[in-house]
Amino acid sequence: MITKPKGTYDLYGKKGKETVALRNFIEELMDKFNYEYIKTPLFESSELFHRGVGDTTDIVTKETYDFVDRGDRNMTLRPEGTAGVIRSYIENKMSNDASVPKKFWYFGPMYRYERPQSGRYREFQQFGIEALGSNDPMLDAEVISVATTLFNMLGLQGIKVNINTLGDNESRELYRNALLDYLRPHIDSLCDDCKKRFEKNPLRILDCKVDGDNEVLKNVPKTIDYLNESSKKHFDKVLKYLDALEIEYNIDTSIVRGLDYYTHTVFEIEASVEGFGSQNVMCGGGRYDNLVKTLGGPDTPGVGFAIGIERLLTALEFEEISLTDDDSIDCYIMPMGDEQKEFSFALLSALRILGIKSDIDYLNRSIKSNFKQAERLNAKFAIIIGEKELEEDYLTVRNMQTKEEEKVANEMIITYLFDSLMDNEDLCDCGCSHDHECDCDDCDCDK
Ligand code: ATP
Ligand code: MG
Repeated sequence: MITKPKGTYDLYGKKGKETVALRNFIEELMDKFNYEYIKTPLFESSELFHRGVGDTTDIVTKETYDFVDRGDRNMTLRPEGTAGVIRSYIENKMSNDASVPKKFWYFGPMYRYERPQSGRYREFQQFGIEALGSNDPMLDAEVISVATTLFNMLGLQGIKVNINTLGDNESRELYRNALLDYLRPHIDSLCDDCKKRFEKNPLRILDCKVDGDNEVLKNVPKTIDYLNESSKKHFDKVLKYLDALEIEYNIDTSIVRGLDYYTHTVFEIEASVEGFGSQNVMCGGGRYDNLVKTLGGPDTPGVGFAIGIERLLTALEFEEISLTDDDSIDCYIMPMGDEQKEFSFALLSALRILGIKSDIDYLNRSIKSNFKQAERLNAKFAIIIGEKELEEDYLTVRNMQTKEEEKVANEMIITYLFDSLMDNEDLCDCGCSHDHECDCDDCDCDK
């Protein structure tokens, strides 16, 4: 048997439905926030990620899927979404568009060669946003609010926003020197990767998974103590805007994020859901005012985030939140014999086109097992089409909830179904035939 690659999973059934529903939910939300959809290729030239994400990051040094294509080009499966969006922004000259800032959302698979574990895959999906062209701290707060609004609207509890700032280039440089001075006497106690990072990009040391528990790293200087005036002001304003939206946050000076491109605000959002385990960070993001220029575009500030869809779905599952409560169909069509199949098939198509969710028997079942199938599919109505029905131009319609059957003239079927489906929506789920307004005592449902 050929099996799926390590660290990947097949999406189908309930999880598949939940993912589609979540994507639809996100799509509607992004429309309200006035962000536009963008899709960039799943692979890009390797250079994009080396320059964009950074040569010294774990993502690029250890986690990329690199390959040489048949035209001898070095390609990489995208490990994250931002670099591709920025490449597209530059290549398509979107900076010429007067409607600044440009605000995008994306949704799709990312690839990282990681050690698979729960909440950590080699192919996983991210929903992300990028807002380009304004350095207003209001936009940093808006980006954070997109994530918190999504989580709140989904009904997730225990959401925690952890935020920090790296400051602008000048502040980062001041901090970098302070960090080098602090680490220099302890360099021997660092892992081999961190020894290299010390030379090339010391900030990355703070993100090291190996040295995470090293005492030396627990007392490192904090970026927040090395901010120049304008960086301090920027951060204070971000916090004020978050206050204005009543978004609670926790300033966590240990966050520096795994990618090279961040400046100013960096943040992570975690779900403190019981039983979730250690992979509970659902969202990571921040401001990246140098990235567009680094990738060869005009000097353009940006801010964004990415949310891990698998972790978000797990959080929803733990909190017993489902986005797909409707697993029923409206109509199940049962042709009694071969002679009725063409008519039935045409009716099926007509119902579907009119927006009535319908299906048909494809296995020539007996009437008894057809009713069982209608129950399995949670059909609201079964339409029985036999010899007599065709001869006399009517259909037998069974209400699967009340078990009542009616003869409906062919030309009346659509009107009949529309009317009945609307009535049916008012019925109690328990099938007691009382409508939602009913508060009589014989009804044992809560409606
Ligand atoms: P981590 O510290 O967990 O490795 P990260 O900092 O590498 O996360 P980001 O690059 O910020 O993650 O990606 C944003 C989000 O995408 C993460 O918060 C997480 O929810 C999700 N994510 C990242 N890597 C994976 C993965 N390998 N499998 C599933 N989800 C992932
Ligand atoms: Mg990671």
